[in-house]
Amino acid sequence: MARPSPLTPTNHDRDYAGFTYVYPVVSRRAGGVSVGVNLNPNNACNWACVYCQVPNLVRGTAPEIDLAQLETELRAMLSDILDGDFMQTRVPEGARRLNDIALSGNGEPTSARVFPRVVALIGRVMKDFGLLGQIKLVLITNGSLADRPYVCDGLEQMAGLNGEVWFKLDSATAAGMRAINQTRIPPEKHHARLAIAAKLCPTWLQTCVFAIDGVPPSEEEQQAYLALVRRIKSDRIPVQGVLLYGLARPSMQPQAPRLSSLPSDWLDAFADRIRDAGLEVKVSP
Ligand code: SF4
Repeated sequence: MARPSPLTPTNHDRDYAGFTYVYPVVSRRAGGVSVGVNLNPNNACNWACVYCQVPNLVRGTAPEIDLAQLETELRAMLSDILDGDFMQTRVPEGARRLNDIALSGNGEPTSARVFPRVVALIGRVMKDFGLLGQIKLVLITNGSLADRPYVCDGLEQMAGLNGEVWFKLDSATAAGMRAINQTRIPPEKHHARLAIAAKLCPTWLQTCVFAIDGVPPSEEEQQAYLALVRRIKSDRIPVQGVLLYGLARPSMQPQAPRLSSLPSDWLDAFADRIRDAGLEVKVSP
């Protein structure tokens, strides 16, 4: 039998050992191994971002989650990473470090009604493996449900588990959110949800910038984003900073041929303007 190839940033092994919910990722962004928890094996999201890397993406919410199966998969994956030969056989040297567990899948994780129960389950497993306080628990979310009580419950629990929320904010204008995320959520509402999330659990903005039909975000778009950053500061919303991304991997959506990466100079210049507006920025071209 062929030896499995090392995982790379572009070789996410979502079908690891035939698992449904749990998969390993070697991430250049995270600089090590991340254990992903996918609550959307049905590839369903309530948004349809034009750069989304989920193949066969459909509009919808997470299906019913088999919590017992999720727990079995998570324990097996962590045993393999911490006590088995996973690092030696599947991970290139230099990345043999467990960084985090990330609720990040093929759709919006908080659309699973059992989201707070999943957080509690992960917390129990982290405790059993001696990982509490050792690694982070990250939630990668579009934030559109952050004001729902059951989501708030999960975010509150995450704060006690070294949790971190990466809250999607690609545009601060209604037109931009429609064009990029294909949602009609008013920016004001998104801002209010950001404030709720950030008060419950340490929160970073995750912002993806790219060119559409060769055209980078307009000066008007950039100004709206910078105005929002200044407002976050003046309203004292405790946002940790901005994770500013380029197009790391190809879009799997019909708009893919229209998208292209921006030069790293462009990202660096925009990052400087965000810093001037008051937030820390980590750039990942
Ligand atoms: S929110 Fe995430 S999963 Fe949903 S469409 Fe956008 S990038 Fe894809």
